[in-house]
Amino acid sequence: MATINDNYLKLKAGYLFPEIARRVNTFTQSNPNAPIIKLGIGDVTEPLPEACRTAMMKAVEDMGDRSTFKGYGPEQGYNWLKEKIAAQDFQARGCDVDPSEIFISDGSKCDNGNILDIFGKNNKIAVTDPVYPVYVDTNVMAGHTGEGKDDGKYEGLVYIPITADNNFTATIPTQKVDLIYLCFPNNPTGAVATKEHLQAWVDYAKANGSIIFFDAAYEAFITDPSIPHSIYEIPGARDCAIEFRSFSKNAGFTGTRCALTVVPKTLTAKAADGSDVELWKLWNRRQSTKFNGVSYIVQRGAEAVYSEAGKAQIKALVSFYLENAKIIREKLTAAGLQVYGGVNAPYVWVKTPNGLSSWDFFDKLLQTCNVVGTPGSGFGAAGEGYFRISGFNSRENVEEAMKRITEKFKV
Ligand SMILES: *Cc1c(COP(=O)(O)O)cnc(C)c1O
Repeated sequence: MATINDNYLKLKAGYLFPEIARRVNTFTQSNPNAPIIKLGIGDVTEPLPEACRTAMMKAVEDMGDRSTFKGYGPEQGYNWLKEKIAAQDFQARGCDVDPSEIFISDGSKCDNGNILDIFGKNNKIAVTDPVYPVYVDTNVMAGHTGEGKDDGKYEGLVYIPITADNNFTATIPTQKVDLIYLCFPNNPTGAVATKEHLQAWVDYAKANGSIIFFDAAYEAFITDPSIPHSIYEIPGARDCAIEFRSFSKNAGFTGTRCALTVVPKTLTAKAADGSDVELWKLWNRRQSTKFNGVSYIVQRGAEAVYSEAGKAQIKALVSFYLENAKIIREKLTAAGLQVYGGVNAPYVWVKTPNGLSSWDFFDKLLQTCNVVGTPGSGFGAAGEGYFRISGFNSRENVEEAMKRITEKFKV
């Protein structure tokens, strides 16, 4: 008799976005003409940069000619792309990252989950709370947790709160943990980590033999020049950190699919016999065995991100979303709400007024303004009492939604 991976039964059945959809449906059934504006889901809305489209169309032509046709590419990605990433994203910021340490993939979400393949079963794992749900659910699937509890937390995981009380920084744990997920600029809070804060994490990781998974999916949104874009800007990070990056949010590749993971060759972890093993070798083996690379066409599109035209277009795209976030911040503040984030990130994190729960605030905003956001409690227990509003939308929708909140929402 075939059996299943019982860990899947521990998962809370994709609660957040289905529940949002259910409440919106119920509302529109009784209010069929309500002009709903969705500022909830973390997906981009604006079209792909022209430089990327042009490069991909040229790549399609390459595929139509015997002399330039490409079959299987390197599982780790083409060198012409990895060299540009190493030079412009890392070496230009003083980070010692070699092209051979970069692995091109079809998404950061995938890599964030897949990375667990190369780690043991008995690591102590820490996540922030609130958190990008992928980090938690992939650990549940891999059997690294106990049962889920009523407050949404899983037994066995260490939760590090990031709230207004600690200025949205992830406080270094007093206990020893082996794997730590950090995401800065943060989804969902929009908070960033200073050099000093990341240095403290690197020092902790080195002292404890821990590995940091650093998710930098939103680094392009950093506007403050003192904030590090990569964890490798921090001395010592090459000995304790893996960094995940993606073309999804800077270049609008959420539907096109391209990302990268950096595994420094200096990074090791312990084998059962106590010896130190290079993680790069394991990840290289894992990718070569289970992955066949990102399509040539898409990698050419990603390469165009590093051209002069591409850089200008991406800057404009990111600025557009940041301007949306600024409008959201200003209008919500004027409406009497306390807001965080939205300066170095596309997300604005709103404190719900008068002690409303995240879901009560959701319902109130839906009913009075026909605006949909994301309840903070859906990202973790410490997200209760907060609400995420995304700058990923058209200017028209953002302005209309903010107009309604200013006119109709009474704190
Ligand atoms: C959007 C996002 C990503 C990117 O995922 P892709 O699979 O590359 O599209 C990674 N991490 C976080 C926290 C995100 O919000």
